[in-house]
Amino acid sequence: MVKRARKDMAHKTSTRFGDNGINFYDSRSITLDAACRAEGANVTRGRRKDDEFIRYEFDDGSVIIHCTNRDLWDIGYRSCFCWEELGHTDECEKKARAALEGKEKP
Ligand SMILES: [Zn+2]
Repeated sequence: MVKRARKDMAHKTSTRFGDNGINFYDSRSITLDAACRAEGANVTRGRRKDDEFIRYEFDDGSVIIHCTNRDLWDIGYRSCFCWEELGHTDECEKKARAALEGKEKP
């Protein structure tokens, strides 16, 4: 996969919070949650197996996902709760591939 330098809202927010996935406060002690909401992110919750997630989707389509029970966040995908850096889970990959091939059920 080709990685490009991006300046979308999720990456800007990530930079603001140290790009490390564990820091939930910026330099002014604003929380990640408050910062994402202030930027107008659409907030959705979900779970997968034992993990619970909050997805912040920004207007430009970029996404930050917070795994609440592990207290980790990272840049994520719009379609699921996987993190970009780790890639999709095998199960998710199958669904994504099926969707790309137009085999996804409505
Ligand atoms: Zn996925």
